[in-house]
Parts: sequence; C-alpha cells; structure tokens
Amino acid sequence: FSRGPKVTYVPPALSEDESSIFAHYESGINFDKYDDILVDVSGHDPPKAIMTFEEAALCESLNRNVSKSGYKKPTPVQKHGIPIISAGRDLMACAQTGSGKTAAFLLPILQRLMADGVAASQFSEVQEPEVIVVAPTRELINQIYMEARKFAHGTCVRPVVVYGGISTGYTIREVLKGCNVLCGTPGRLLDIIGRGKIGLSKVRYLVLDEADRMLDMGFEPDMRKLVSSPGMPPKEDRQTLMFSATYPEDIQRLAADFLKTDYLFLAVGVVGGACSDVEQVVVQVTKFSKRDQLLEVLKTTGTERTMVFVETKRQADFIATFLCQEKVPTTSIHGDREQREREQALGDFRSGKCPVLVATSVAARGLDIKDVQHVVNFDLPNNIDEYVHRIGRTGRCGNTGKAVCFFDPEADGNLARSLVKVLSGAQQEVPKWLEEVAFNAHGTIGFNPGGRVFASTDSRKGGSFQNDRTTSQPAAALGVAGDDDEWE
Ligand code: AMP
Repeated sequence: FSRGPKVTYVPPALSEDESSIFAHYESGINFDKYDDILVDVSGHDPPKAIMTFEEAALCESLNRNVSKSGYKKPTPVQKHGIPIISAGRDLMACAQTGSGKTAAFLLPILQRLMADGVAASQFSEVQEPEVIVVAPTRELINQIYMEARKFAHGTCVRPVVVYGGISTGYTIREVLKGCNVLCGTPGRLLDIIGRGKIGLSKVRYLVLDEADRMLDMGFEPDMRKLVSSPGMPPKEDRQTLMFSATYPEDIQRLAADFLKTDYLFLAVGVVGGACSDVEQVVVQVTKFSKRDQLLEVLKTTGTERTMVFVETKRQADFIATFLCQEKVPTTSIHGDREQREREQALGDFRSGKCPVLVATSVAARGLDIKDVQHVVNFDLPNNIDEYVHRIGRTGRCGNTGKAVCFFDPEADGNLARSLVKVLSGAQQEVPKWLEEVAFNAHGTIGFNPGGRVFASTDSRKGGSFQNDRTTSQPAAALGVAGDDDEWE
C-alpha cells in the first residue's frame, strides 16, 4: 500500500476526551462464556495463570485505565498471557482478534515500562522505542494503537502509530514528539526506520500480530528485514511475542527463527467465530440468484449492522452500488480505496449511517466494530480459516450474532466438508443438501471427522513439529468450548 504517489492525507486529530478514549461497548450476556474457552499452554515451566487483574499487580495508573475500560476480569488469553509475558518469556499464541489478546500483551509490557520509569522525550532527533508492534493491516494496527493509547493514558509512555496511506511528513513529526511503543504495518515501519528517525537498539519487546495473515499478505521478507535491521537486538536480548489465528508450518518456522528456544505456546479457543454464540445459516444459491437473495436477507436485518463479504475489490464496488440503488444505505471498504475513504466508510458504518458494509477479507481483517449483528458471506472464501475469521466479526465480546453464508455448489464445493465440520463443531444445523455436497466432495482441506483438528499444539510438546494438522487449520476456530474432542 505504501508505495505509490506521494500521500498527503493527515488523519483527523484524535479526541483527548476521556469518554472517547475509554469508549467501550458493554460486554454481552455471554461474556461469562469466555471462561469456558479452552486454553492450552505448552513448553517448559510455564508460570501460573492469574484469575483476576489484581493478581497481575499492575501499577495504579494501569489499573485505573483497565477499570475505566470496563474490564472486570481477564479473558483466558489474558489470564495466561499476562503472567507469561511478565515473567519475561517469549510467547507464540494462537488466539484471534476478539479474545482480548491486545490487552494480554499491552498490559504486561506497559507495566514493565512504567516500573522502569520509561518516559517519552520530544528532545531527541532519533527516537528509540522500547516496543515495536507489527500488524498486517492499517485498521488492525490502528486498533492496537488505540488500545495502547487507552492503557497508557495519563502516563509518560507514548505510543505512536505508523501506516501507509498517511503523509510521511506527518508520521515523522508524530514519531519525533516521543515514541516508546511504535505500532506499524510492515511497509511503513521499515520505511520510517530506513529514514533514520528510529533507532532500534532499545527495543525490548517485539510483537508480531496476526502473523499468519502477514505471511498470506507476503510480508515475510519485511518481517525478516525488521528483525535483522541494524540495531535490532538479537532474539536472546529482546522479548518476542507472536500472535496468529492459525498455526501452519510456515508460522512454526517463523516462531523457531524469531523466538528464543524456550518459548511458551499458548492456544486459545475461539470467541465468537465458530462458537455457538454465532448462529450460522447456509443458504443454497446460484451465481445468478445471489444478488436478489442478498436483498432478501437485508430486508430481515433492517438497521442492524451487517457486514457483507465479497471476494474481489470490483465485486465490493459493484455490490455496494447495487445496494445503494436498491435504497439500502451501504458503504464499502477494500484495499483500493484511499485511506480517507476507508476511514469514512468505517465511520459511517460504526455510526449507523450506513448499516451495511461491503468488504473484502483483507480490508476487514481484525476490525473490532461494535454491534455487528450480521455477517453475510456473499462470496465464500476459498479456505475455511477465512470463513471463521469472517464470522468472528459478529458474536464479539460475548454478544450473539448471526452469520448467513451463500453456498453455490458449483463454485464452493471444495469448502463443503470443512464447512460441515465447523457447523457441527459449533452445534449448528447442517442442511441435508450440504451434507450431500460434502459427501461427494473430494480432496478438501481439514475434514477430519471426530479427529484431532487442533491436535498436539506444536514442537513444545514433542521436541519436533509433530503437528498432525497438514493445513493451516484455524487453531482457535475449532477448539470450541465444550468440544473436548478437538483438543488432546
Ligand atoms: P482484542 O481481541 O484484543 O481485539 O479484544 C476484543 C475486544 O474485547 C476489544 O474491544 C477489547 O477492548 C475487549 N476486551 C478485551 N479484554 C477485555 C476484558 N478483560 N473485559 C472486557 N472487554 C475486554
């Protein structure tokens, strides 16, 4: 995204108002279900999980910010992740957006910085952040930044975010105001580092979020460049935390390269997504009936926020235009839209001005938008991980949601088996016709009836990669609460 004509966009200044910094949505009726999420820690000598935020022994300002954020008790990834990170251990965590992983890494990191009296200074030509957080998309890194800003509120620690689509001059000025926690997308981060405004020698924490998505998006060379950039402390001298929704072999390889050998592996079941908080409905369609069927669905959703996923950028524009013509207030988000337009679209969707958002997967990845009641898979993705990610946009924070997916047996047959697996794993109704399509399908990914889908986590247990998952199965996706079979 970041290469192209000179970008002049400067985002609107963020409100310094406490009520907007700490704005959050009430956790839904099913929030307690977080406790049922299965968690598995493997590796040598893991620290004991905490049960409450008090046990995290955070300093006063962090505690205050946690309670202003409305967090009453830690989510499972926080219960395990916080003590692991506080103990100075490297971590590979399989957890999705929605599990509370952002606070799981931010809180112990900020706690350490505060304890060491780290304070931002605007008086240095080169800023030397203690923490670098990398995430694949602009929206996701912005969300992480907003959380960092929230937790660091009223302290001397200053987070900064850098990503493509925003004026570089503006970004550099922001960095030079003081920068302890640098959040960025890979391209822009390397760009800013390359300009000599950032020194890496003080980096103590390196966080790679949505690592699987970074690989999918071709960022592996960028990540490797980052860890071998001049000044970057070697892995022995920094703490590295990797998060990924799935744990395919290339992520295991990256973990082996970037993390200390005694890293801990934390696997967290899914929140929302394939869990039973999301009602999943599969509708049989043909290529030509889809648009009308979409209109039918949207008639029933009314003003409730609905995300419609499509495969291509062109399709996103096309469907959004079609819906607008049909008087459904719709906006769209995809990678070809300018940053200003993307932010406008998200704003209109969040505010309810346009309750329908048509999106491509890449653009929508990891967005944490409140009250998404419905997800429509207008086009099914070509792998089941992506399906689980998409439906994870709803049913968040313990709220219930509904996901409708259009299944065209002509085009989507290869997904039938894994879809049946996900549906039945989440106690959802599997239509008879879909079972038949699945029965007749060949060579599909990840269908392993009654088998160990999430299997034996990773090398932590066996000493070598004995993972019997041959695909990038969504680690979390199928580890649904109460579904013990999916876990060793
Ligand atoms: P994340 O997985 O980090 O994207 O978090 C998903 C959402 O859950 C965000 O809106 C968080 O602010 C919220 N959240 C995270 N941890 C907690 C908690 N312990 N209590 C309530 N809400 C939380």
